[in-house]
Amino acid sequence: MKAIVVEQIGSFSIRNVNIPHPVAGEVMIRVSVTGLCRTDLKLIRVGHRDLVLPRVPGEEVVGTISEIGTDVSGFSCGQRVYVYPGTACGKCPACKSGAENLCEDMRIMGFHRDGGFAEYVLAPVKSLISISDKLPDEIAIFAEPLSCCLNALELSRLKKGETIGIWGAGPAGRLLCRGASALGAEPFVIEPDERRRSLANGFKKPTRNGFDVCIVAVGSVEAYKEAISHLNPRGRVVVFSGLAPDASNLQIDFNQFHYYEQTLVGAYGCSYRHGQQALEFLADGRVKVKDLISHKMPLWELEKALKLVEKRSGLKILLYP
Ligand SMILES: [Zn+2]
Repeated sequence: MKAIVVEQIGSFSIRNVNIPHPVAGEVMIRVSVTGLCRTDLKLIRVGHRDLVLPRVPGEEVVGTISEIGTDVSGFSCGQRVYVYPGTACGKCPACKSGAENLCEDMRIMGFHRDGGFAEYVLAPVKSLISISDKLPDEIAIFAEPLSCCLNALELSRLKKGETIGIWGAGPAGRLLCRGASALGAEPFVIEPDERRRSLANGFKKPTRNGFDVCIVAVGSVEAYKEAISHLNPRGRVVVFSGLAPDASNLQIDFNQFHYYEQTLVGAYGCSYRHGQQALEFLADGRVKVKDLISHKMPLWELEKALKLVEKRSGLKILLYP
């Protein structure tokens, strides 16, 4: 099969590799569509904390089961599935608390094991979530990025009727906005880039100074400073976007958090249940995403697609193997 392979940081190649076969508890999936996100760009160009080489990247996968290993029940060949990208141990304190994304032994598809930038991908059966017939592949693929947003919104303890400021109007910022609306909150998107702001509809300009929740979905120190300065008393600020290592020692006034009883909370990835919740929201239309698709391209044009992400000139890019 054809696959994108990263052997060293900074480059990748399109290779013919052997089609893997599922072992016990695994299935093989023929990839229908895979989503490209900024993390893939980071992983290929500069590396990532969780990346183990050589690797087929791709952590957003929707496809059809094409082969089944032993000890697999509940799924059959021909079934359409979404793959929750993590495999957790199920026993450690993080797993037991429902945060398997923080599992001590977390293995992520596209990072620790081969991902969906290929014609086929192997996945453990416990990572699969079946997709309803009425949900097209190009919508179901948003389950992964939306899951990460739902995890962040859950950690923010966002309540109905609260206001939420979201910094960054990229695909993640827009999904956070729509997820927050679906949860009954009032979102405001703050985007300093005029061109980005005009790319799609659906935002409001910030018309207020304080928010109950601030989420930063852009890797910028300035955005973090602004978000922290726009927190209401008892407000929560979510560290959703990572910062470059040299920028992450941002100075924070802890007395502000003390006097106003505010909370600083991190969010990274998602749990299996967020995948289920995301697919529900997508299937019943509570979160609409179709207008967020800016490009559909053959997977083999990955370099062109990465350049679009680099220049921030698109929104969601879907790749077809
Ligand atoms: Zn664990």
